[in-house]
Amino acid sequence: ATFDFSGRRALVTGAGKGIGREIVAFLTRCGADVVALSRDQGDLDSLSRETGCVGVAVDLGSADGARRAAKTAGPVDLLVNNAGIALLQPFLDTTPDAFDQTMAVNVRAALTVSQVVARGLIQRGAPGAIVNVSSQSSMVGLPLHAAYCASKGALDQLTRVMAIELGPHGIRVNAVNPTVTLTPMGQMAWGDPARSAPMLARIPLGRFAQALDVAQAVAYLLSDAAAMVHGVMLPVDGGFLTS
Ligand code: NDP
Repeated sequence: ATFDFSGRRALVTGAGKGIGREIVAFLTRCGADVVALSRDQGDLDSLSRETGCVGVAVDLGSADGARRAAKTAGPVDLLVNNAGIALLQPFLDTTPDAFDQTMAVNVRAALTVSQVVARGLIQRGAPGAIVNVSSQSSMVGLPLHAAYCASKGALDQLTRVMAIELGPHGIRVNAVNPTVTLTPMGQMAWGDPARSAPMLARIPLGRFAQALDVAQAVAYLLSDAAAMVHGVMLPVDGGFLTS
């Protein structure tokens, strides 16, 4: 561990698998008390055995569920809005339901949970930091990702507005924008070598991201090492966006 989050409470959404799970493990190693929100109770049980975090099962696609779950977390100092879904459909076949569900989880849950956490920080007069887990797909178009790309573009814009409105309260807000990351979602979307090879060819560092690459960037943005970093979208992409 390279950061000291002792005495600080972190809330991580979408913590059951993949990047969120790695973020919980990393933050607990750095001394944070972590509350983990995710959908599957079994994932949360094993994660809390492994890390000592407190797990809360919730479907963040419900605005009420998201608000209630965020409130059960108590006074939070550090928030990571990581929960996200990718429902791959060709543009012409993208359904209203898939679009709405994607926006509900990838954007509205971040809004709702952040509102609860930011209100708490402002009431306590405490400083805080929020990181939204966006994607390189907020900045480039990817086939089959219409709803997903739209949601991540929206999440970047949400991040900017949160930075403007919450900064004066001492709450820093940033995003990370990973490339393809080797998680269950990454495997689902990019497991087919015919799809992944052209993507890999555009990454100057020559590999996809590991969940730990993303967790470390998130931890940096949450930490006092990033005390003057505010409102940025930080690519964690091995240089993909430069190519
Ligand atoms: P995974 O699908 O591997 O894990 C996502 C986790 O979030 C799962 O535990 C999942 O639970 C949980 N989750 C999803 N929807 C909900 C919901 N409605 N309520 C509560 N929990 C939910 O995804 P990744 O770890 O790969 O992705 C994490 C974030 O990183 C996402 O925002 C994603 O968009 C972003 N990202 C991922 C990239 C990649 O290539 N993997 C690249 C760039 C960004 P369950 O499994 O039970 O549904």
